[in-house]
Amino acid sequence: MASPTRETPPSRTPRSRQRRGEGQWALGYREPLNPNERSKKDDHPLNVRPRVENIYAKGGFSSIDPGDLRGRFRWYGLYTQRKPGIDGGRTATLEPEELDDEYFMLRVRIDGGALTTEQLALVGELSQTYARDTADITDRQNVQYHWIRIEDVPTIWEKLEAAGLTTMTACGDSPRVILGSPLAGIAEDEVIDATPAIEDIKRNYLGKPEYSNLPRKFKTAVSGLPDVTHEIHDVAFVGVHHPEHGPGFDVWVGGGLSTNPMFGQRLGAWVPRDEVHEVWAGVVAVFRDYGYRRLRSRARLKFLVKDWGAEKFREVLENEYLKRKLADGPAPEVPRVQHDHVGVHRQKDGNYYVGAAPIAGRVSGSLLIAVAKAAERAGSGRVRLTPLQKLVVLDVPEAEVEGLQAELAELGLPTEPSPWRRGVMACTGIEFCKLAIVETKARAKELVTALEERLADIQSGVDTPVSVHLNGCPNSCARIQTADIGLKGQIVTDDDGNQVEGFQVHLGGGLGLDTGFGRKLRGHKVTGDELIDYVERVVRNYHAQRAEGERFAQ
Ligand code: SF4
Repeated sequence: MASPTRETPPSRTPRSRQRRGEGQWALGYREPLNPNERSKKDDHPLNVRPRVENIYAKGGFSSIDPGDLRGRFRWYGLYTQRKPGIDGGRTATLEPEELDDEYFMLRVRIDGGALTTEQLALVGELSQTYARDTADITDRQNVQYHWIRIEDVPTIWEKLEAAGLTTMTACGDSPRVILGSPLAGIAEDEVIDATPAIEDIKRNYLGKPEYSNLPRKFKTAVSGLPDVTHEIHDVAFVGVHHPEHGPGFDVWVGGGLSTNPMFGQRLGAWVPRDEVHEVWAGVVAVFRDYGYRRLRSRARLKFLVKDWGAEKFREVLENEYLKRKLADGPAPEVPRVQHDHVGVHRQKDGNYYVGAAPIAGRVSGSLLIAVAKAAERAGSGRVRLTPLQKLVVLDVPEAEVEGLQAELAELGLPTEPSPWRRGVMACTGIEFCKLAIVETKARAKELVTALEERLADIQSGVDTPVSVHLNGCPNSCARIQTADIGLKGQIVTDDDGNQVEGFQVHLGGGLGLDTGFGRKLRGHKVTGDELIDYVERVVRNYHAQRAEGERFAQ
């Protein structure tokens, strides 16, 4: 029997009725079936750190072993960034080394999006010193730097770790950053504060080799409020009141986007807060041992959950890993909309939280330092990053709210932004991402600016922002399938027959009450140049035709 804490998963005799050749360790298939699995078996990716510190940082980019560069580095949040000037039409035709720049993207994991103002200032200072002042808030509550030199990585790690931050398993086939409510511990309507559960997971399992070689990436959300897109996580713990046991968490497994998107399935199990980390480890161990390691395209947990169903998954989790039954529990409340926490709102302790909206998460190190200082001047010591690429200052006394709002607005971070600014998200795109086909961040900015001008006449009537998500390629880093208007970057043909950057449109996706994937409208593609006109047209039509209170996906 496997145990969540055992280092080496069991080797088993293949069962004749099981699907052969999926590479499931638990069924005895331990021989690597693809190059990624081979690389992980040859040398555990976590072992790359001393090589970075002792060899690569001293020898420079050319000294890096390609297997580490394009594989194991990810376990420490490092990806080579895209060489400037390579257009999206060539992305799929070039060899990896032709796309690799000698600089890195470095992802700092910020579990629950939680930072003290000191930590925020440090993140900003490191950006100024080592990342040409770049910083993006991702929709997974991380901060991403660009232009990082390998020579500087050990110093960056050292400084981050001294402040309680890390890049450990920020990428790679491992448990990535844990999403948590930006309002954990302060929201008046919170079911339960998930912070201790997130801390338990980090303390007990982060960076442990037996939990860091999984078939594919593994995304976790733990929240006492339904504001972390829990439906699309490999595992999610969602706050719920149990009629007998009180507040705790409902467990969901198998959510994920990209190709073959799937919403997570409820196990129907209720877990108290202090047991979340054990159940989390059990789910990770099921994935580690039974997950499909043959094809990368079928390796996410959702494929196993789809084949097994929630009932069998729970049975295996309880019988083989936890060695006990979980309590049955009710479903959590379904949120009406995904709240972005922008604006000024009262906390349960009488202070206020103040949420501001950068455009599509694009900030800078200097801006983060300025926000940290402004927050401190307003009496706050805590800032949160949100899954919608926003930024929230907590614990602001009432008398300081207006002053902070003015300072943030001065910094280009309005706390009463237009609905278009609130609703736009974008992934990294062609500026830095090697998989990208189109530009996203600059387009998001142009789009917001244009919509603010063009749609000024209907702006005051918008009670629910229309969400517009831009992806630079068919992957779904910006969650296009769950947006009102989802835009998937690809090369399209313009009216003159030219191959140009553009987007496949998906309409009507959503989470919460509107849970559903956006419809991909066949032949519904726009060029990059047509994008602003297109979005304006769709939004105008929607506003002209909607009944009061009706949401886009309805
Ligand atoms: Fe890169 Fe594609 Fe993800 Fe955008 S969606 S960050 S282009 S992999």
